[in-house]
Amino acid sequence: MAKTYDVVVIGGGPAGYVAAIRCAQLGLETACVEKWLNFKNEPALGGTCLNVGCIPSKTLLESSEHYHLIKEGINNHGIRVEGVSLNLDQMMARKEDIVMQLTGGISALFKANGVEWLQGHGKLLADRQVEVTARDGSTEVVGADHVIIATGSQPIDIGAARVDNAEGLIVDSTGALDFRQVPKTLGVIGAGVIGLELGSVWSRLGSKVVMLEAVEDFLALADQQIARDALRQFRKQGLDIRLETRVTATRKTADGVVVSFKDKNGDHEMTVDKLLVSVGRRPNTDNVAAPEAGLLFGERGYIHVNDECETNLPGVFAIGDVVRGPMLAHKGSEEGVMVAENIAGQHGHLNYDAIPWVIYTNPEIAWVGKTEQALKAEGIPYKIGTFPFAANGRAKAMEAASGMVKMLAHAETDLLLGCHIIGPFASELVQEAVLAMEFHASSEDLARTIHGHPTLYEAMHEAALSVHGRAIHKINT
Ligand code: FAD
Ligand code: NAD
Repeated sequence: MAKTYDVVVIGGGPAGYVAAIRCAQLGLETACVEKWLNFKNEPALGGTCLNVGCIPSKTLLESSEHYHLIKEGINNHGIRVEGVSLNLDQMMARKEDIVMQLTGGISALFKANGVEWLQGHGKLLADRQVEVTARDGSTEVVGADHVIIATGSQPIDIGAARVDNAEGLIVDSTGALDFRQVPKTLGVIGAGVIGLELGSVWSRLGSKVVMLEAVEDFLALADQQIARDALRQFRKQGLDIRLETRVTATRKTADGVVVSFKDKNGDHEMTVDKLLVSVGRRPNTDNVAAPEAGLLFGERGYIHVNDECETNLPGVFAIGDVVRGPMLAHKGSEEGVMVAENIAGQHGHLNYDAIPWVIYTNPEIAWVGKTEQALKAEGIPYKIGTFPFAANGRAKAMEAASGMVKMLAHAETDLLLGCHIIGPFASELVQEAVLAMEFHASSEDLARTIHGHPTLYEAMHEAALSVHGRAIHKINT
C-alpha cells in the first residue's frame, strides 16, 4: 500500500519549497520531490533560483560591482586606490559558499516544519499518485490528496549555437556563472535580463562584451522611455549592444567561437573567447506526467492552469515557471502560498497586476504595473510624473545620480497604474509602488506621504508630486 500524504509537491525551487513549507505550516502532511544535484553532485533544494539563478548571479553582480568601483570609480570621492587585483577563484568560492548556506537553509526549514524530502524525479500518474525515481533507479509510488507541480524551467537552445557547459565555449547562464578565467571577449546572444546581468558581471571584470539581440526594441517588456535611457547608459559603459541582429551559425576553433550573424548591413563574422546563449527559458515538463494522468498542456508546453493555479485535474495544481506569467522567483513563491492556503480551505489570492520586475544592472531597472505603451494601446487615459535622480541629494552623494522615476496614474481617478525606475537601488524603491498598488493608492496618496530626507525615496515622492505638476525640486512643465 503506497504511503499517502495530504500534499505532494514536485519540485523544490522557490515555487515548490515555499508551497511545501506553507502547506506544513497549515497542518498538512507534506512531501516534496526534488532531484537537483548541486556542483558537488549532492542533492540540493532551492531549484534554479538558489543554485544557478537569482542568488549566484546577484552574488557575482555585487562582487564585480565592488571590483569595478574600486578600480574605476572611486576617484571622484577623493579616494585613490592602487594595485587593485582580482582573485576570481575567491569570488567564485564566495558565491558557492553563499549558495551552500542558502540551499542548506531550505533543507533545515523542511526539517523544522516537518516537510519530507523525497529525493529523485517525480512523475504524476493517474489519480494523484506520484512515482519517485531515485538516483539509483529504484522507484516508489506515493499517493496524495493534492499534488502541486513546480518543476520550473530550463534555458532555450537554438540550433545556431549549441550549448555545452562542460566544454565551456558556448554556454548558458549556468556556464557563464562559472567561468574560471575572465574571457577577453564575451559574445552574448539575446540582450534580455540574463544577457544584461551576466554581460555586466564579465564586462566589469574586464571582458569586452558584444550582445547580439534579434529584435528591434531593446527590453521590449519595459517602459520604452526607461529602456531607451538604459540602452544609452549601457552603451556608454562599453556594452556593445547590437539590435536587429540574428546569429546564423557558430563554429568552434582554436581561437574561440566564430559567430556568423546578419544585420541590416548584411552578413558578418566575429570571434569571441566565450559565447553566452540567453534567449529565454522554457517550462520543464519532460516526463513530468504519464499520459494516463491526463494533464492538459497549453501554449509552448506550459501546464494549463486558471488564475488559482488549478490544472484540468481535480486536486492537481501547477505553479512557478512551469505555468504562464513572468518567470520570476517571487511570482512562483506567491503562487505557492496561494495554492497552499486554498488547499487548507482558506482564501489564497495573488494580484498578478502588482508583480515587481527587477533587472540588476547598474543602474538597476525596476517596474510594476502598466507601461506607458500598454496604457496607450489599451486606450486608458493617464497622467505622467517623472523625477530625475540628478536632482536627488542622496543619489548625488552616492555618485549615482543617473536615471529617473516615472509614475503613471489614471487621468480621471488618479489610481496608480504603473511605476518605472532606472537608477540606484531601483530594486528596493519599486516596493513602495508595489505596496501602493496593492492598497489601491492614488498618486496623491504617495504625494501626501512623508518621505525621509535625504533618501532615494524622495525621488519617488517627487515623481508622485510631478503627476499633478507640483514637484518641488524640478521645473514642472
Ligand atoms: P525552479 O527554480 O526551476 O525549480 C524547479 C525545481 O524542480 C528544480 O529544483 C528541479 O530540479 C526540480 N524538478 C524539475 N522536474 C522535476 C521532477 N520531475 N521531479 C523532481 N524535481 C524536479 N528571478 C527573480 O525573481 N529574480 C532574479 O534575480 C532572478 N535571477 C535569475 C538569474 C538567472 C541566471 C536565472 C537562470 C534565473 C533567474 N531568475 C530570477 C528566475 C528564477 O530563477 C525563476 O523564476 C525561479 O527559479 C522559478 O522557480 P520555480 O520553483 O518555478 O522553478
Ligand atoms: P529574456 O526573455 O529576458 O531575454 C531573451 C532575449 O533574447 C530577448 O530580448 C529576445 O528578443 C532575445 N532573443 C530570442 N531569440 C533570439 C535569437 N535567436 N537571437 C538573438 N536574440 C534572441 O530571457 P533570458 O534573459 O534568457 O532570461 C530568462 C528568464 O529568466 C526571464 O524570463 C526572466 O524572467 C528570468 N530572469 C529574471 C531575472 C531577474 O528577475 N532579475 C534575472 C535573470 C533571469
